[in-house]
Amino acid sequence: MNSNEIAAQLEFFRDIGVDTLDASPSGRGRRREAQVREGEASREAAPGEGLTLDSIRAEIGDCQRCKLAPTRTNIVYGSGNPQAELVFVGEAPGYDEDQQGLPFVGRAGQLLTKIIESINLKREDVYICNVLKCRPPENRNPEPDEVAACNPFLRKQLAAIRPKIVCCLGTFAAQTVLQTAAPISRLRGKFFDMDGMRVIATFHPAYLLRSPEKKREVWEDMKQIRAELFRLRS
Ligand code: URA
Repeated sequence: MNSNEIAAQLEFFRDIGVDTLDASPSGRGRRREAQVREGEASREAAPGEGLTLDSIRAEIGDCQRCKLAPTRTNIVYGSGNPQAELVFVGEAPGYDEDQQGLPFVGRAGQLLTKIIESINLKREDVYICNVLKCRPPENRNPEPDEVAACNPFLRKQLAAIRPKIVCCLGTFAAQTVLQTAAPISRLRGKFFDMDGMRVIATFHPAYLLRSPEKKREVWEDMKQIRAELFRLRS
């Protein structure tokens, strides 16, 4: 970890009011395990599906399947490690993401980076994508027909990556991935089983920018994710 990454991580800890760090042997052991994992051989191929992130992206093509196509600048497919153990799913691209074609690169994205680094992972270790691949005008909420058009591709992305854990960021991601109308307040902070993956929801980083007092709960959720990753690896 370079000094910028350490600074970002400490800043997030300070923001969420963490004033002691885990320097116990088990804490150090966890960090060692995370490093060992980076060198691991790739996982077995997905059973029979032959799905790859590249083939799914090719299937999306110059998508015109919903009414967001005419107003988007770029399709924001997703980025990160195609063999990630942990996938973050957000709602939809915003202005910066639409301009750059990459997920979570604006202010909320910078906070997401700190959240990821708070559990000793880097952005490159995880995979980040959204329910919608195109920006809704003026960042309005996704509409049901747009979610219906895009959701099959999110499902395929998850089937291709086969992460151990999917972390849904905010209401739309949680409700879409878990196929429920339950509010985020009821969904966050607990694991659900879905197609061999563990799914957890937490607050969206954009919401945290407006309600920083909720960062403490996100930190609780991240600790659960870290513990579950270690449990599933052992
Ligand atoms: N908010 C999201 O839900 N996704 C992004 O990619 C950026 C902001």
